[in-house]
Amino acid sequence: MTPQIETDEHKALRAAVATLGAKYGRDYITRTIAEGRHPTELWQEAGKLGYLGVNLPEEHGGGGGGITELSIVLEELGAAGSPLLMLVVSPAICGTVIARFGTEDQKRAWLPGLSDGSLLMAFGITEPDAGSNSHRITTTARRDPDTGDWLLTGRKVFISGVDMADAVLIVGRTEDARTGRLKPCLFIVPTDAEGFRKHPIDMELQAAEKQFELTLDDVRLPADALVGDEDAGLLQLFAGLNPERIMTAAFAIGMGRYALSKAIEYARDRAVWKTPIGAHQAIAHPLAQAHIDLELARLMMQKAAQLYDAGDDAGAGEAANMAKYAAGEACVRAVDQAVHTLGGNGLTREFGLASLITAARVARIAPVSREMILNYVSHQTLGLPKSY
Ligand SMILES: Cc1cc2nc3c(=O)[nH]c(=O)nc-3n(C[C@H](O)[C@H](O)[C@H](O)COP(=O)(O)OP(=O)(O)OC[C@H]3O[C@@H](n4cnc5c(N)ncnc54)[C@H](O)[C@@H]3O)c2cc1C
Repeated sequence: MTPQIETDEHKALRAAVATLGAKYGRDYITRTIAEGRHPTELWQEAGKLGYLGVNLPEEHGGGGGGITELSIVLEELGAAGSPLLMLVVSPAICGTVIARFGTEDQKRAWLPGLSDGSLLMAFGITEPDAGSNSHRITTTARRDPDTGDWLLTGRKVFISGVDMADAVLIVGRTEDARTGRLKPCLFIVPTDAEGFRKHPIDMELQAAEKQFELTLDDVRLPADALVGDEDAGLLQLFAGLNPERIMTAAFAIGMGRYALSKAIEYARDRAVWKTPIGAHQAIAHPLAQAHIDLELARLMMQKAAQLYDAGDDAGAGEAANMAKYAAGEACVRAVDQAVHTLGGNGLTREFGLASLITAARVARIAPVSREMILNYVSHQTLGLPKSY
């Protein structure tokens, strides 16, 4: 049997999602942004077709697949110019954490809706004073001794899609674990809860999904708002963070492929001397390099997804970091080269590539920055000492 990186089912999924992507495409996203709307039609159609919950358990309305399948969905939508950023968050982080660690009630309440797209969840870990050092987060949960309710107080920044979300999965810490290494607790916080406020951050990004600063002021939550075990901490959190990294890689590879396809199209046709500009190696070779970099990043993403889906959380951690790094860098370079290939047109609204310069940088900084991944590999993989 010929070894396959992707099964026939995966190839069929790719093709089917690419067809959906082509139906919407970049124009749809551009229109959605201009009208200040959410990409609701695409989200709902993807939900109806089973793509949003392809990684979630079948008994709760999902497709029974894994992050391998969900990353294919996001990559192909991105390659068509119509990525859905909230796929990184809603089914990949929140869906995974609830499916793996939630109670039966939580699974019943959220998973069918996350799968068909009727419910959407955002994810909040980043805080203004902690940034990349999530051990410093101070969002704190304390128990009301009379009712057993949780009271959650804190601030979060850069939280994506809160205006689209029914709830945010908030990473906090319990009062008795307020200092020292992070012992995170995950809470489902409805976006209409009293004391929960969101404020949009004025980003330079042209994207259908917005980022928010959140203030939680003694937000009262029932005891069952806690997902999983108060003491299982980091294990549960990383069950969601590894999929997030793999999905960010898919997001970056999709965007890189989209930009590259536009540049190739242009380079084939545009002739200012005797031949199309694509015949000049100064144009062709960097595009070929960008293609190779994106393919390599995809291989690492596939490895990370397969390890994760096979239950190897530790192995997936290293591979997911490396895949996110490789894909972020490949995306930034592919977009840069694509814009350059179009000459002046690379900077026009009509061709729509210039805004991707900013968008591509997201994959370099979030959810974990290039430098923090290099730190991880330096310390965890290479065994080098730490400077911080
Ligand atoms: C578009 C967008 C969407 C986002 N969506 C979400 C979301 O939905 N939910 C969420 O929780 N967060 C979200 N984030 C936040 C994102 O995860 C953070 O921006 C990211 O983790 C970096 O944190 P920071 O911005 O505080 O940067 P900082 O931590 O302040 O880092 C600033 C710079 O210093 C470098 N640096 C920091 N420490 C070190 C070190 N030890 N060694 C070397 N270099 C270092 C970093 O690499 C970076 O270049 C989003 C961010 C963006 C831009």
